[in-house]
Amino acid sequence: MHELSLCQSALQLIEQQALAHHARRVTAVWLEMGALSCIEEGALRFSFASVCRRTLAEGCRLELTVKPAKAWCWQCAKAVSVERHTDGCPICGGYTLRAQDDAGLQLKQIEVE
Ligand SMILES: [Zn+2]
Repeated sequence: MHELSLCQSALQLIEQQALAHHARRVTAVWLEMGALSCIEEGALRFSFASVCRRTLAEGCRLELTVKPAKAWCWQCAKAVSVERHTDGCPICGGYTLRAQDDAGLQLKQIEVE
C-alpha cells in the first residue's frame, strides 16, 4: 500500500518539525496531494492515523487538500491542468493523460502545542 510509505515519510518530517519547535504534541497537520498522485483519501487517512500511533502526532487532526496537477493530454497534444484524477482532460474529457508533476504527498503546515 503506497499510502503507508507516503505517510511514514510525512510523519518523519512532522516529527522533525515538532522537535525543532519543542512541541509536546502535534494537534493538526495539513497535507496536500497531487490530483494525479493516485492517492486514495480513505486509505491515506487510515494509514496516517496508524503511523501516528505512539508518536507526538497521535490523534491529531488531518486536513487534506488536493492540488491540481499538470498533465499532458495525448488527444489534444496540449499541457492541461487536472483538478482531480477522476475528471480526465478539461478540454476533451479524455483519459490519455500523462502526469507531468506528480507531487505525491506534501506537508504544508503543522500545528503544535
Ligand atoms: Zn484532451
